[in-house]
Amino acid sequence: MSNEEISERLEQLRSQYALYKNRPFDITIARGIPSTDQLKLSEALLNETRIENWYSEDELDIRNYGGLFGLKEARELFGTLLNTQVEETFVGGNSSLQLMYATLVHFMYTAKDSWSKEEKVKFICPSPGYDRHWFMLDHLGIEMIPVELTGQGPDMETVEKLVAQDPAIKGMFVVPTYNNPTGETISDKSVARLANMFTAYEDFIILWDNAYVVHHLTDHKKEAADLLKACKEAGNENRVIQYVSTSKMTLPGSGVAAMGASEARINELALEFSKQIISFDKINQMRHVLFLKDRETIEEHMEKHAEILLPKFDWVDTILSAYFSGDRSTFVQWTKPEGGYFIHLTTQDGCATDIVEKMKAIGIELTPANAAYPYGINPKDNSIRLAPSFAKLDDLEIAMEALCTCIELVSLEKSLT
Ligand code: PLP
Repeated sequence: MSNEEISERLEQLRSQYALYKNRPFDITIARGIPSTDQLKLSEALLNETRIENWYSEDELDIRNYGGLFGLKEARELFGTLLNTQVEETFVGGNSSLQLMYATLVHFMYTAKDSWSKEEKVKFICPSPGYDRHWFMLDHLGIEMIPVELTGQGPDMETVEKLVAQDPAIKGMFVVPTYNNPTGETISDKSVARLANMFTAYEDFIILWDNAYVVHHLTDHKKEAADLLKACKEAGNENRVIQYVSTSKMTLPGSGVAAMGASEARINELALEFSKQIISFDKINQMRHVLFLKDRETIEEHMEKHAEILLPKFDWVDTILSAYFSGDRSTFVQWTKPEGGYFIHLTTQDGCATDIVEKMKAIGIELTPANAAYPYGINPKDNSIRLAPSFAKLDDLEIAMEALCTCIELVSLEKSLT
């Protein structure tokens, strides 16, 4: 486009934007929250699940204290998601993030050779990743090293180089299935490399946050290879700690979370938990066992979520595809995930922050630009996360049309500077 053509087009876009500004919306596509229709899928968890036997398979009275590791049947159920034996499975409270945070606090402060005794503690952060992981690390004073994701997991060459050289690098986060926000699933090759890589710090850990393990949107179900098994085969069985939760299967905030790792690691972490809690909510664990039953029932339940979610993801893709075709295709690239909760946009460099701010000014809230990078710092300023799950389809359509206008407006304005 010539500068004249750009100016003409900008005039149209500015008047469209002015219309939005005069009549601001109240829409959020900022966080990966299930919609009300999705929550309804699990009402039976509370209304129809009757606990008739108050004793678990391992003879715990679930109404009382005890059973820090979780009910045997809950450990079995979560073992089907974690590929772990009962002894390798710990079932906790309502949040996997809390289990991760407690894990980090343990290694940082209370483990035998706690990291805090050292001058610097660093973590590898595959990016764009989950902002709450980065908040945790930052809060604990752990230096974050971003490593780019490739579409099939982290850039393993960079990871291998870094961990081989620097003993201050104690671990890394990985979201193996349908990563938040890029939607990618780690390749089998990368799983093998993570299990086998040499690390300068001997007790290097991988926090394997499998939050979207059964959260498929299509029949093409992706599954990350079993890192714990690969670590055992490589002689590094204590390297990985896996996390899952039912937050986006049943009711977020009222679900159940679990960890899977070697028996030694599970015992070590259980000892840590024993200093802060007597036992978790076993009644909720039992309700979830009765409601979710087994892996097959979980998969069926998740198909109902997909039926509600998929039209929203398709709608976003359809609107972006229609708007950014031909000449406009250079303004933005986006992911077409087969699972998880997010769509990631890569804008032209230097545009993401302005686009998100422009959206905010017309009453549409997005996740802050570049939040998926450690410290929220992304020198390219080109990363926007969309979370289409909560909004109604009509609102999503309005938000996407406004977003397309803002993307083009900001990109063209930048092209003139
Ligand atoms: N991990 C990832 C990657 C997530 O995207 C989320 C929620 O969005 C969570 C963990 C939160 O899990 P929980 O509710 O079990 O703490």
